[in-house]
Amino acid sequence: MKEIKRLKRLLPFTKEHEEFRDLVRDFVANEIVPYHDQWEKDKIVPRELWEKAGSMGLLCPNFPTEYGGSGTDFLYNVIVIEELARVGASGVFFSLHGDVIAPYILHYGNEEQKKRWLPDIIAGKKILAIGMTEPDAGSDLAGIKTTAVDKGDYYLVNGSKTFISNGYLADLVVTVAKTNPEKGINGISLLVIERGMEGFERGRKLEKIGLHAQDTAELFFNDVKVPKENLLGKEGYGFRYLMSELATERLALAISNMRSAEAVLDMTVEYVKTRKAFGKPVGKFQNTQFKLAEMFTEQCAARAFLDQVIMEYMQGKKVTVEASQCKLLCSELLKRHVDECLQFFGGYGYMMEYPIAKAYIDARVQTIYAGTSEIMKEIIAGKGLGL
Ligand SMILES: Cc1cc2nc3c(=O)[nH]c(=O)nc-3n(C[C@H](O)[C@H](O)[C@H](O)COP(=O)(O)OP(=O)(O)OC[C@H]3O[C@@H](n4cnc5c(N)ncnc54)[C@H](O)[C@@H]3O)c2cc1C
Repeated sequence: MKEIKRLKRLLPFTKEHEEFRDLVRDFVANEIVPYHDQWEKDKIVPRELWEKAGSMGLLCPNFPTEYGGSGTDFLYNVIVIEELARVGASGVFFSLHGDVIAPYILHYGNEEQKKRWLPDIIAGKKILAIGMTEPDAGSDLAGIKTTAVDKGDYYLVNGSKTFISNGYLADLVVTVAKTNPEKGINGISLLVIERGMEGFERGRKLEKIGLHAQDTAELFFNDVKVPKENLLGKEGYGFRYLMSELATERLALAISNMRSAEAVLDMTVEYVKTRKAFGKPVGKFQNTQFKLAEMFTEQCAARAFLDQVIMEYMQGKKVTVEASQCKLLCSELLKRHVDECLQFFGGYGYMMEYPIAKAYIDARVQTIYAGTSEIMKEIIAGKGLGL
């Protein structure tokens, strides 16, 4: 696809980064694009893809070499996210695995846990999911009901989770549970529940509007005995850990959403140059030009803000508010732009054989998961404006 000429990025991409981008682009073109339609029908991405990606260093590239990572900077992770978003590979949740969940183990796991799990996670042999949301608690995470009762050398876990991404593929589920329900948010802990543990079951693969290749699932825990060695960090610190890691999740999603929006604009500009109505290309109507010019300008501004926040994040600055702003800005922008762009495709935009149609259905969830737009605004108003 021909791409619009855009300004040079603010991020310090080097020759090595660009070589890595070429490698990822080839991998995506050869190993993902030809098969994604089938995976949408299967409602799952095959495990072998994860192992191939792991063997090429595409999962957790910035993790320390002692655990099997490449010890790179976060820009390598950014590249993987962007190259998947560029082609609409919406079922492949490498970023959730490597950028969002694996850091819980790296940051809060003890040495034994890191050695036990990280090499397989980085190699794509163990796939990760995170279980926060429950049927009765999403935005209000403190309202979860899953309990983990201390039984000496293990916790007895009971409860259920819903809407869990990678839910079927997951070998390890970082599970949010109440170890001390009477202590409110100070009674929440993170436990790693493993595939095969007795009493851990998966429900149906959920039918969704979009993200059809994603194995979003329900998880059930019935008297699961989780050994104490699977507690991440300190008991009662789960909520704190979640609050500090969620900024990365929001930033990663914003990176993906921004790149998706750019791809959508690229494909639309190409389309309106060739599709004719009333004897001239649709791109020659003033309405088309003005709308696309507005979107292009908005995207350039959003891109500059996002890249600046990525840089600050890489410098180790706390970006809780800024990551929420990026998530809010980029997901809402994507949702609006993909809708407006689809209009220029007329009836063809409604046909699934056109990538714009898939982009449209995949975009809808972006303002909902990893914290809704309303929750992003609460964070920005509360922590950013002191209201
Ligand atoms: C495809 C998909 C994948 C997902 N993957 C995962 C996953 O891997 N792991 C996981 O744990 N969860 C996952 N989720 C869950 C997702 O994070 C939640 O759906 C989301 O946080 C919203 O929670 P909820 O659905 O319970 O909505 P609710 O919390 O019930 O919210 C309903 C509405 O009320 C609004 N609202 C709530 N509180 C406020 C407030 N204080 N002020 C103003 N408005 C408010 C919300 O913004 C929303 O519009 C996934 C969801 C989807 C759809």
